[in-house]
Amino acid sequence: MGNSACSFNRYSLVVHVSYIWCHGTKCHTSHTQDRVRGSKGSKVLRTRKVKQHTDSEWYEQNQVYNYFCSQTCLHDFIRDHLQRIVALDPRTEPQETPIEIETFTRTDYFGKPYTDKTIKERVDTITE
Ligand SMILES: [Zn+2]
Repeated sequence: MGNSACSFNRYSLVVHVSYIWCHGTKCHTSHTQDRVRGSKGSKVLRTRKVKQHTDSEWYEQNQVYNYFCSQTCLHDFIRDHLQRIVALDPRTEPQETPIEIETFTRTDYFGKPYTDKTIKERVDTITE
């Protein structure tokens, strides 16, 4: 990953920010002003940087938007690499989760009882 790190001091709050280049396969082709770089005569559309707030308590490494600047870029990447992504963990059989269906009685707005059902996973025997 093309990481670069920088830090800045703003309003006496020191924040460490690192960036990852957006992994969208067409990010550098979107016609937006924030992607324009370079000087007159040699301007380019450049892939966006995605901020990594690794110092924040809400940061989660596996959040997809740490790697993509937008939903469009995420879907471009998935579309372009789908066969390889699926090949990482091929699914040749369905998976199953053992459950119990519990039936219980509720009361509607008018006080009339009715039967409702809920699905509960059987914790004791969950298998992959
Ligand atoms: Zn992007």
